[in-house]
Amino acid sequence: MNKKTYNLIYYDNPILKIKCKRIEKLSGEDVEFANILINLMLKYDGIGLAANQIGDNRCIIAIGGVDPLKSPAIFINPTIIRFLEPIVTFEEGCLSFPKLYLSIDRPEGIIVEYYDINFKKQTLEAHQLLARVLQHEIDHINGIRFIDRIPETKLENITSVLESINRRYNG
Ligand SMILES: [Zn+2]
Repeated sequence: MNKKTYNLIYYDNPILKIKCKRIEKLSGEDVEFANILINLMLKYDGIGLAANQIGDNRCIIAIGGVDPLKSPAIFINPTIIRFLEPIVTFEEGCLSFPKLYLSIDRPEGIIVEYYDINFKKQTLEAHQLLARVLQHEIDHINGIRFIDRIPETKLENITSVLESINRRYNG
């Protein structure tokens, strides 16, 4: 058996712009992959990581032990079914964009439906940091990067930073 190795994917790899595939039936290999996702997230000190950020197209995200979660958790096929006001601004980072921090406007809370690691359907109401991380990661599996959430004029200001990430990590 040759084990596939996974590495972080950086801007502007096309897999960060794909819509990931929903999981219809959870396999043992999917569970193994979910554990790899969590371990890589922890290794890189992240609080969230999406499958396509390590080059895979499954609808799976890992979230760190963000309050009120007690430990890292896996969200399979996560879907936001409701956004909860107000809209708040918060500075975000992303493991696919090293050292880039951007203020992003997002709803303060969300209600999300997902399947847990036992493929049991769950509904979660999340607020504050947890809602923020979930929205960022759910964006990823829908092919949306946080730079897609800032105005064009702001994007122009970070062109050189983006180019340097590309040179350094994708060179
Ligand atoms: Zn990210």
